[in-house]
Amino acid sequence: MATNNTKKVSLSPAQINEQLQVILNKTASAENYQLEAETVKTYNLIVNIEQSLPGKEKGLSNYYLLFNAWIRWLSDWKNYSLNLMHRRRLIGHLEQQLGKGRFILEIYPYSSKLYGIKTEGWKTLIQLHEALDYMTEYDCKRLAAFVNRRRWSELKKLVAEYQERGSQWKELSLHFQQTKANPTHENHTRGRYYDLEKVFTACNQRNFGGKMARPKVIHWSPRVNHSTMGSYNINEDILMINRGLDRPDVPAYVLDFVMYHELLHKALGIKTSGTRKMAHTKEFRELEQSHPDYERAQSFIQKNAKRL
Ligand SMILES: [Zn+2]
Repeated sequence: MATNNTKKVSLSPAQINEQLQVILNKTASAENYQLEAETVKTYNLIVNIEQSLPGKEKGLSNYYLLFNAWIRWLSDWKNYSLNLMHRRRLIGHLEQQLGKGRFILEIYPYSSKLYGIKTEGWKTLIQLHEALDYMTEYDCKRLAAFVNRRRWSELKKLVAEYQERGSQWKELSLHFQQTKANPTHENHTRGRYYDLEKVFTACNQRNFGGKMARPKVIHWSPRVNHSTMGSYNINEDILMINRGLDRPDVPAYVLDFVMYHELLHKALGIKTSGTRKMAHTKEFRELEQSHPDYERAQSFIQKNAKRL
C-alpha cells in the first residue's frame, strides 16, 4: 500500500524539538520490557518527521535549517541508537548523582555551544550538544559528578578535552553545516528551469574535455543572492550555484560560465602568497577569460544581478 508522507509539518522546530526530547528521554529511560517497542516507535516518528520536513522552501530560518540537519542525522538508525545509548548512560549517572526527577536532559544540534547548565528551582536543566554522543561511559560518569558538585571549571575542561581528542565532533559539526546549507538532499541539483547536474555535465564537456571530476555535492543556494553567483568549498568539495539564476530569462551560457568559474576553483585550489590566500590568481583570471562566453556572461551578470 502506498503511504502518503508528503504532509507538511505545521509545528515549529521548537515544538517538534520539545516533543522529540520528551519521547527520546522516555525511550532512554524506559523499563526493559517496553524498551524495544518504544525504541521502534520513536525511530518511526523521527523518520516521519524527516520525510515531511520542509526543505525546498526559500527563507527558512537558521534554526529551522539546523533542526532539519539534526532530524536527518537522527533518521539514520546508527546515529539514533547512539543518541539513545548516550542519553541512557547519562540519565543513569545523573539519577545516581542528582536523584530521579531532579534534572531535565536536553540534547541539541548546536552550531557552536557545547553545553549549558541552568538551575531552575530545584531542577537542573542540562543541555548538551549532539556531538557529545560519542563520550565514553567514564566521561559521562564524570560529567554527572561535576554537574552535581557544581564543578564548572572541571566540566569545562572535560568537554574541551573531549572536543580536542575526537574527530567525531568535527565530523558532526561539518555534517550539520553541510546539511544546513543544503537541507533537502546531498545533491539538490534540480531547479525549476535548470538542472545543475546537466549544467555540470555540459560544462565539463565543453570546457574541461569531460575530465573534471564531479564535486561531491552540487546544489542550488537555499536563497536568492544578489551579489554571489556561486561558491566552491574546497575542504568539503561542495559547489553551490545562486538560486537566482534558475530562471527562464537567464541564458544557458551564464550558467555555464558560473559553473566554469566554480570548477576552476576546484581545479586550481588556493594558492598562498606570503600570508595571503589567493583564490583568484593571475592564472585563474587568464583561464576564466578563456571561457568562450566570458564577455557576454560577465556583462549579463553585471546588468542583472540586482533584479534576480
Ligand atoms: Zn571565485
